[in-house]
Amino acid sequence: MSKLTGSKKATQFTESVIREMTRLNHLYGGVNLSQGFPDFPAPTAIKDAACAAINADINQYAVTWGARPLREAVAREFTRRYGLEVVADEQVTVCCGSTEAMMSTMMAIIDPGDEVVIFEPFYENYGPDAILSGATPRYVTLHEPDWSFDPDELAAAFNDRTKAIIINTPNNPTGKVFTRDELETIAVLCRKWDAIAISDEIYEHIIYDGQRHIPIATIEGMADRTITLNGLSKTYSVTGWRVGWTISPPSLTGAIRKVHDFLTVGAAAPLQEAGAVALGLPDDYYTKLAANYQQRRNVLLDILDRHHFTTYKPLGAYYIMTDIRVFGFDDDVEFARYLVKDVGVAAVPGSSFYKSNAGRTKLRFCFCKKDETLQEADRRMQKLVPAGVTLH
Ligand code: GLN
Repeated sequence: MSKLTGSKKATQFTESVIREMTRLNHLYGGVNLSQGFPDFPAPTAIKDAACAAINADINQYAVTWGARPLREAVAREFTRRYGLEVVADEQVTVCCGSTEAMMSTMMAIIDPGDEVVIFEPFYENYGPDAILSGATPRYVTLHEPDWSFDPDELAAAFNDRTKAIIINTPNNPTGKVFTRDELETIAVLCRKWDAIAISDEIYEHIIYDGQRHIPIATIEGMADRTITLNGLSKTYSVTGWRVGWTISPPSLTGAIRKVHDFLTVGAAAPLQEAGAVALGLPDDYYTKLAANYQQRRNVLLDILDRHHFTTYKPLGAYYIMTDIRVFGFDDDVEFARYLVKDVGVAAVPGSSFYKSNAGRTKLRFCFCKKDETLQEADRRMQKLVPAGVTLH
């Protein structure tokens, strides 16, 4: 057999469907409600800080594990918000986005045969993250409409091979915000099986209806077994900057930093300086961010409801999961292609977030978009009709 092939690992997953939908959207000139990135400007203060850093010649490598001002800002803000002490020198590692933070974390802690518990639906990247790091995923279902999990099902997914569980709260794609009770249930299992919690908290500040974000690191007995991931992308509307980080127990930081170093050396130095400025924005920046997104959520929920989708109201993050059965298509990919090509709106097929078939009846929309973008999507979706109904 020819050796001119991809590796076994690389053939076990497909290209990112989220990113593919953005490309298809460009091809067909659609309204892009697929890949989650804002189409409005980032805050002026942080753009100015980035330009100033470049002009001040902060243009060479930062320290591999992150420029001190950013690491200290990450530690300071986590302590200020959640009351848990974080030592920047021992616990914070800056990476190229939380995507790299997740990959470096997984490669730093996983041995072949180790199992990782993942809630399904899950953010698309976690599947390839598991394959590339050699982990065996164990999926536990989040049940709509409220995306709750069955504690017995979760308990049954843990065993002595369980190395870690991945939590993403607020959650992509469902908008679920894990409650204290749920996090305590998870924490009991982590402690029982000596497992690590990897907590992707990239939507920390994008939370609605008076909900509060709870980092699992703050649950009793979890600080020394939790790796928290976060980044600038969503909070400061700079998804293209690729600046993220991990906060890890000191015992795991060395492994994460080594993997990170040999994967990427480091994240963009001037953007890390701007990141330190961003983390110093006043509290009302975050209040307004959440209030603005809540308003956009309500607008898109109304649009999707009027165009016959069954919607699941998100309590956080900036996505809406929908059920598409009413449209009578064979599956989600076929419907997503129709929607972008013939209707002119791009969304992400639900199957991108599932290992099982449950995603084939679902589609994810994002609402991190200007009002006029959402209104244009509304206008285009007037073409949509439920199966069996004809337009006059
Ligand atoms: N997190 C975003 C989403 O789910 C963007 C993903 C990406 O392309 N990195 O759409």
